[in-house]
Amino acid sequence: MTPVLRAALAAALLLTACRASEPGNTLGTEPAIAPVLTTPDAVDTHSFANPLEARVTHVALDLGIDFDSKRIAGTATLDIDRRPDAKQIILDDNGLELESIVDASGQALQYQVGATNQELGAPLAIALRPDTKRILIRYKSAPNAGSLQWLTPEQTAGKKAPFLFSQGESIQNRTWIPTQDSPGIRQSWEATIRVPAGMTAVMSAPRGREPITQGGESTFSFRMDHSVAPYMIAIGVGDLAFRSLGPRTGVWTEPVMLDRAAAELADTERMVEAAERLYGPYRWGRYDVIVLPPSFPYGGMENPTLTFLTPTFIAGDRSLVGLVAHELAHSWSGNLVTNAVWSDSWLNEGVTSYFENRIMEELYGPARAGQEAALSWADMEAALRELGPNAPGTRLHGDDDPDGGSSGIVYDKGAIFLRTMERIVGRPRWDAWLRSYFDRHAFQPMTSARFLADLRANLVRGDAALEARLELDRWVYRPGVPDNAARPDPAAFAAVDSALARFTAGGPADAAAFAGWNWAERVRFLKGLPRQLPQARLAEIDRAFRLSAGGNAEVLFAWLRLALGNRYAPAVPVAEHFLAQMGRARFVQPLFDTLLHQGDWGRPIAERIYARTRPGYHSVTRERVDRLLRPAS
Ligand SMILES: [Zn+2]
Repeated sequence: MTPVLRAALAAALLLTACRASEPGNTLGTEPAIAPVLTTPDAVDTHSFANPLEARVTHVALDLGIDFDSKRIAGTATLDIDRRPDAKQIILDDNGLELESIVDASGQALQYQVGATNQELGAPLAIALRPDTKRILIRYKSAPNAGSLQWLTPEQTAGKKAPFLFSQGESIQNRTWIPTQDSPGIRQSWEATIRVPAGMTAVMSAPRGREPITQGGESTFSFRMDHSVAPYMIAIGVGDLAFRSLGPRTGVWTEPVMLDRAAAELADTERMVEAAERLYGPYRWGRYDVIVLPPSFPYGGMENPTLTFLTPTFIAGDRSLVGLVAHELAHSWSGNLVTNAVWSDSWLNEGVTSYFENRIMEELYGPARAGQEAALSWADMEAALRELGPNAPGTRLHGDDDPDGGSSGIVYDKGAIFLRTMERIVGRPRWDAWLRSYFDRHAFQPMTSARFLADLRANLVRGDAALEARLELDRWVYRPGVPDNAARPDPAAFAAVDSALARFTAGGPADAAAFAGWNWAERVRFLKGLPRQLPQARLAEIDRAFRLSAGGNAEVLFAWLRLALGNRYAPAVPVAEHFLAQMGRARFVQPLFDTLLHQGDWGRPIAERIYARTRPGYHSVTRERVDRLLRPAS
């Protein structure tokens, strides 16, 4: 999978030096072009790019959105930085239909698309003349571009207009943007987007000029002056309305969703303030969110200035807004300081999961944050059970997987590592270090080794006793969980755990207790039940707790996993309805997996439901379920 030229990359020199601060960067700390890291652990095996020979520094898109043909078509103009002797630049391409490639003076440039790798796409090699600094690519995305989901009006909440959204992370943006699609090659960008009149385009960047409508088309423009990893370029187009939530926060969604979404997101401005108190200024200007149609494959995606959210976080009581805290925290860990390669995705997700919990504590108090941390600990334990306590997949610095590996490791073990460091050094000292880490590495790529080097240089500072207590290398590079791990407070779920013990010993389902619990307590109870339960006991809790009635998606999901894992037939229509009405991979994949583990009972049910629901899922979700259903070879 790794082209030969990569060996040469690791040895080559840093191509781009820091330049003067860009205009508008009030903090004055950001170089206009972030360097590409040169150590072997920073070489991205999921990109064909040759950044140390020639790299993209700025992308200017000029694109039309065509819902009829399901294509995005137009031009991408790339500014490049190159070694004087560079003969070519290599971009990532996955299914783009190229029409022409010319330089700034309009002269054609030779290009070649190499062999296609099923996962990565293909290298697009463009020959450079000695003076080539700008490349203009005229192209179309394919109708089946993996990043993009084109929804019919019937698949939206309002049922009036079609909808388009993109999902770039990890390596999907190469299906609609010809650039170097690697998180370690940061690029600023701008876009002019033409959509059918009456529709609204939003992107993960501040708006440029005011939208113009003429000749049946509306034109929107966007400009991101900060350099970002290219997976963070994102678009949404549909019948969208906006409501302000605070001085710099707001929500976009379909008009019929606006009241519910805005009510659920009422704490968003306070979250931004809390995050800033913790770890320094929010550097992206506005923090808006878009609540997408239910097929969005993730809980949320932290696209800069515009978090993309699943509607499944809307529970009616703001109980699942930890998701918003998570995506907001990515404005620091992920968007500001970004994993250079996907095998270090714990630097994005683990640091963010820790930060998320700190925001939740700031807003809602230590009891709620402690419960959510205890659920996270249990998720890590579940991952260790599933993978094996010392399996290679339990390392933070992980495998060569663009999806980053098990979430119980990348998110939960990652967060627990940081919580452990916090407990050992004390919160004030830890917080001072983490804040300074974001400042020192703002708008830069990061690796595990650099993270540890910074921690040693600026926190441990040669204290051998502290170094020994922290066990840094063991946390990051070795499997399993070190003994010094910060365990959750057993009191977090004391009431639930004693109710669990009573029920497991044969006691009745305590409907009154369950009714008084929050979502975390309900999930704790359901996940704490024995995995094998008799039908009568399942029926008893289903009835007493009104589980099949739905409501909170996390509670429903925990119930359905238990019920389907016990072949509890009354849960099948509930599961089918849930699987048909949303496409969030974290719910969809495990539910099909649970059914498939129930052999002759579950497989026909899974196949029947999937035949119906598959067309409505984004490619991210589809590919995960396709892999499950494919017969083992
Ligand atoms: Zn995340």
